[in-house]
Amino acid sequence: MTINTDALIVGAGPSGLFQIFELGLLGIKADIIDSLPQPGGQCTELYPDKPIYDIPGIPYCTGQGLIDNLMKQAEPFGATFHLGEEVVEVKPVDGGFHVKTHLDKEFLAKTVFVAGGVGSFQPRKMRLPEAQELDGTHVNYRVKDPSKFDGQRVVVLGGGDSALDWAVDLAPRAASMALVHRRDEFRGAHATVDALRKLEGEGKAEIITSGTACGLGVDGDKLVSVDIKLADDEVRTLEADELLVFFGLAPKLGPIAEWGLDINRKTINVDTETFATNVPGIFAIGDINSYPGKKKLILSGFHEAALAAFAAKAIVEPGKKVHLQYTTTSPIMHKRLGVEEE
Ligand code: FAD
Repeated sequence: MTINTDALIVGAGPSGLFQIFELGLLGIKADIIDSLPQPGGQCTELYPDKPIYDIPGIPYCTGQGLIDNLMKQAEPFGATFHLGEEVVEVKPVDGGFHVKTHLDKEFLAKTVFVAGGVGSFQPRKMRLPEAQELDGTHVNYRVKDPSKFDGQRVVVLGGGDSALDWAVDLAPRAASMALVHRRDEFRGAHATVDALRKLEGEGKAEIITSGTACGLGVDGDKLVSVDIKLADDEVRTLEADELLVFFGLAPKLGPIAEWGLDINRKTINVDTETFATNVPGIFAIGDINSYPGKKKLILSGFHEAALAAFAAKAIVEPGKKVHLQYTTTSPIMHKRLGVEEE
């Protein structure tokens, strides 16, 4: 089934979220897609608890705090969120653009807003050749279905929250669980480290620190073991059926490069009057775009979203005059914001 939409936003970072708001003020409802499972882009993925001091009118907020407020501000406009889906294809067709995600969800969009930041966040992969062969079968970079690990000998690599959370979650249902981290200290929450240590005390898990995976034992298309190089250069072989790797996420421009846009060193050239790209109907805002004097700041994306929304209105409702109205005084904007007075 194809989803019809007036505006499709690729990327739910701060720019994409504010694009929902600016389109909403002009009466345009949007669909928004992000490859991450939660909105927020770099703010929530890279620095949720760190302070931001340069958002106009907000002297201080955290990365997560800003995203929470942008979500609240966009709420009246009822955008549909499609999270955990990467947009892989955007093709011009009659009536707009045919857009497809990696889960084969399809859209017909009158306008497209690329708010892809520094690209979509992808799991950092292991470099071992055997890991590439077993990628998606027994070498896993995310848990889609926890039951896959029932009764299996599982090795988890990593020391952040994802590695620790999954080690704790899966240990009771796995045949064996070993968490291997290359350092002594864990980056993840103390409470989860304590929970894993408790499981270790009960014989349900093992924690190996200062160790790195240096080889995989493979039998046909099956994983049989993981070799761990320890601090003293000794190599220990852990028997394993499934390997879970959590080395963090890295942004990749990925499929955006294939959409016929004018790409300039991993960014998209735009016209600064409307933030339109070289393809009429496709706009690019936020960190992903490029123009003389561009500064990759959150406030730049906000300004760009406002101008792009006005330009898109002329495509969605051709021939209709668009007047600039103030949210302070405009009854139609109050209606759209759901703050109509009795
Ligand atoms: P992003 O935040 O990068 O979001 C883009 C989203 O698009 C991502 O969620 C990504 O998964 C998604 N995406 C990309 N491609 C696809 C695809 N094909 N399909 C689906 N989804 C896709 N800026 C400031 O102004 N002030 C600060 O104090 C500040 N501090 C910072 C501190 C750190 C540590 C870092 C790393 C950055 C900081 N920045 C700061 C920069 C700021 O975070 C960025 O300018 C801002 O996040 C850009 O927003 P965006 O929405 O354009 O892109």
